[in-house]
Amino acid sequence: HTKSRGGNAYHFFNESMNRNAVRRLHVESQLRHALKHNYLQVHYQAKVSLKDHRYVGLEALVRLDIPGAEVISPAEFIPLAEETGLIIDVGERVLRQTCRDMRNWIAADQVTGRVAVNLSARQFLQPDLTQRIKTILAEEGLPPHYLELEITEGVVMENPERAIQIMSELHQTGIHLALDDFGTGYSSLAYLKRFPIQTLKIDKAFIDDIHSAERDRNMVASIVGMAHNLGLSVVAEGVVDYQQAQILAGLNCEYAQGYLYAQPLSGEKFLEHISTPLQAPKSYLLN
Ligand code: C2E
Ligand code: MG
Ligand code: MG
Ligand code: MG
Repeated sequence: HTKSRGGNAYHFFNESMNRNAVRRLHVESQLRHALKHNYLQVHYQAKVSLKDHRYVGLEALVRLDIPGAEVISPAEFIPLAEETGLIIDVGERVLRQTCRDMRNWIAADQVTGRVAVNLSARQFLQPDLTQRIKTILAEEGLPPHYLELEITEGVVMENPERAIQIMSELHQTGIHLALDDFGTGYSSLAYLKRFPIQTLKIDKAFIDDIHSAERDRNMVASIVGMAHNLGLSVVAEGVVDYQQAQILAGLNCEYAQGYLYAQPLSGEKFLEHISTPLQAPKSYLLN
């Protein structure tokens, strides 16, 4: 009896390992295929001001959309791109496309504020990162102050001293820096005050239950207070309803992103979306 159960468990383990490996190979080959045929796209999600309900900026989010194939989410292919080293190529293409789009939109007065691009660990640790980014900005004609780079708390805390050096170099070019997914890693306050960053992005996990969970509300209040004491602005991620937006505004959080305002959209749809001014419901404005 025991023996057969052990046998099944072993068999199951092998099967799932195998499925996992097959899936990874599939995703990797799709990614290589997309890089070769230029199927990577950049979508943009609007960032809004909670104070006056205006669009104030945007975040670039990569999409792997191969004609006729299932869509693979960045949550799945970015870690794999990171492991295989393909992230360097992916990252440069995203940055280049983003700078090109942003330059055109700024020139045509279609967009205000900054565009944020996510940087992964491997990109962040490239020895010539700043030079590569400066080259792309120059080639695409986008002044550095229109660009913001989002780096996760986890990545900078892996080697905080090195991270401070890299971030300082980037910041000296005029690029803005944001700490992404804040609250999910382990930042030490001692480092936080030394990071040359301008913005904290509070992870969606703290926003999800902000109306019902007092603990989450208190956490967000503390993070906002601390950020402001350090001279940083705060963005709440994953805002999906006006109740959350109202609570966040009450806690003095100045910016938000989330499906309530806009999904990540293709460049064309993004422009169309933000051409209609945001309207908050009366109840929100009255409170
Ligand atoms: P992130 O940078 O924290 O981006 C926020 C993620 O939350 C995005 O998922 C966005 O589509 C999603 N999101 C935004 N608002 C809402 C909401 O109201 N509800 C929910 N449920 N989700 C919301 P996405 O686009 O799938 O990207 C996932 C992660 O993949 C990103 O997290 C980022 O870490 C990474 N990523 C995406 N694009 C790039 C890229 O170009 N380069 C690098 N290195 N990483 C990227
Ligand atoms: Mg981000
Ligand atoms: Mg995030
Ligand atoms: Mg994230």
